[in-house]
Amino acid sequence: MSKQTHSFQAEVAQLLHLVTHSLYSNPEIFVRELVSNASDACDKLRFEALNDSSLYGDQPNLEVRIAFDDKAKTLTITDTGIGMSAQEAIEHLGTIAKSGTKAFMDKLSGDQKTDSQLIGQFGVGFYSGFIVADKISVESRRAGLPASEGVRWTSTGTGDFEVEQITREQRGTSVILHLREDAREFLNGWKLKQLITKYSDHISLPILMEKEEWKDGENDQPGAMVKTGEWEAVNKASALWTRPKKDITDEQYVEFYKAISHDYEAPLTWSHNRVEGNTEYTQLLYIPAKAPFDLYQRDKHAGIKLYVKRVFIMDDAEALMPQYLRFVKGVIDSADLPLNVSRELLQESRDVKLIRDGSVKRVLSMLEDLARHDKHEAAADAEVTDVVSDEDKAKEGKYSQFYAEFGAVLKEGLGEDHANKDRIAKLLRFASTTHDGLSTSLADYKARMKEGQEAIYYITADTLAAAKNSPQLEVFKKKGIEVLLMTDRVDEWALNYVQDFDGTPLQSVAKGAVDLGKLQNEEEKKAAEEAAEAFKPLLAKLKEALKDKAEDVRATSRLVDSPACLVVQDGGMSLQMARLFKQAGQ
Ligand code: ADP
Ligand code: MG
Repeated sequence: MSKQTHSFQAEVAQLLHLVTHSLYSNPEIFVRELVSNASDACDKLRFEALNDSSLYGDQPNLEVRIAFDDKAKTLTITDTGIGMSAQEAIEHLGTIAKSGTKAFMDKLSGDQKTDSQLIGQFGVGFYSGFIVADKISVESRRAGLPASEGVRWTSTGTGDFEVEQITREQRGTSVILHLREDAREFLNGWKLKQLITKYSDHISLPILMEKEEWKDGENDQPGAMVKTGEWEAVNKASALWTRPKKDITDEQYVEFYKAISHDYEAPLTWSHNRVEGNTEYTQLLYIPAKAPFDLYQRDKHAGIKLYVKRVFIMDDAEALMPQYLRFVKGVIDSADLPLNVSRELLQESRDVKLIRDGSVKRVLSMLEDLARHDKHEAAADAEVTDVVSDEDKAKEGKYSQFYAEFGAVLKEGLGEDHANKDRIAKLLRFASTTHDGLSTSLADYKARMKEGQEAIYYITADTLAAAKNSPQLEVFKKKGIEVLLMTDRVDEWALNYVQDFDGTPLQSVAKGAVDLGKLQNEEEKKAAEEAAEAFKPLLAKLKEALKDKAEDVRATSRLVDSPACLVVQDGGMSLQMARLFKQAGQ
């Protein structure tokens, strides 16, 4: 194959522009991205070699080497992983396979400040090399291919890239960064070691660098560090989740999260456990602070990486986390699953079911814990000095933050996860007619119910303003009864699955004839009955006139100021739902 020139896919060109223009303030992240690609490549080889050990050839070691050359101004990251064929290099380093890229790109405003926040949600991966390099060459040979079928990919990160065939003795990939003038600080062993410790210490492969020694200068020349030809591992080379908790710092947990999630923000919280029992596994689960741009994408899978005895098996192991917890990121390492487990097998495995149940429970307890610490209620008695630990304090406000980002997704669990429905219901938060913000739990509501009130009342609407001003609320306002205001699209659907909370029924104020029961006194009841009697002839006329439009016309006691309002039958589709269907063209 002679040298060929290819154009980057339009989205890649756009991404490249963005990467080089918005991320220059944090250039060092390229270390994390390129080392994580090298590590992924080794994981892939290890996995493919489970079925075909000849792929290792005469190089059984899986490792990453980082080298720099002061004179050539290059930094090279070499791995002995799966490598790439020429075709794979063209596809993987010229297009973005991830679905949703287009949608993501459309969201970009062109404003660097906001865009650089957004881009954090999107793995910048390989292209982050162009933050520090004005030219990148990638030399690679796929495991299993002959030395003559190596490939060299070269680009300056603008419109296009070149690809040619080369001979490469070694399996795997070298990424050679030709550093920009202003990125020469990375040609420094000490600096590189520091970055590897910060970003890649958790990686389970050895990351090697050549040892350097100080050599005094001769003949008045200054001394310098010189390479010794001996390579040493600069990371711990043990997968983070396999280490005891007490040996892991918060900073290490956070960096690990950033590496697996591509998020630039620290997570809200995490939980790391070894679970022993019917099946043995380690779980390290994180709750992000911000929703990713593709949270509602259909093909979006759970962010759980599955390992079996420290061997990486697959990303996006959706069998391990239900849809409504798809925002959770982390690692599960099973001691009991077979190494050659497939997606199909995962669906049926009893061990997977146990792991999934255990992980769901863990996530719900993490959320419950955050919810408990959300508001630190000041002690009613000022004399009592509150003792609040720093750890507790650090959790304040986090649940509200979580709920604003993921509350609507969590609600899907009411319909999806019957076994945990009650726990999920307790985690819900709503606005209400008497309390602003998403601050009212169903338990709070219950505690504030009026004497004689027998139901939890709620109304659904498109917006908070529409809900608040609904004429259906009039009688509740007059009587000072709190009504929950629900404005999420999923509320209507999700609430179908919650008939009652802790023994108290939930009732929509927009459905059927609202029965205020004991909240209405005898006088009011009598007045309502008399009115209904008196209006009978009028109602009959209205009913006749509206016969194509309304099923029934009734006198009601729910209104105070408004002359009339629309309601739906009990058990019927609510107005909100009917509007949703109309929007969807049904
Ligand atoms: P991601 O890692 O999220 O897939 P990247 O932009 O980091 O995205 O990498 C794009 C693709 O290029 C990878 O999915 C992989 O197929 C390929 N790739 C990158 N680096 C390497 C490498 N060192 N060895 C083999 N393949 C690689
Ligand atoms: Mg990557």
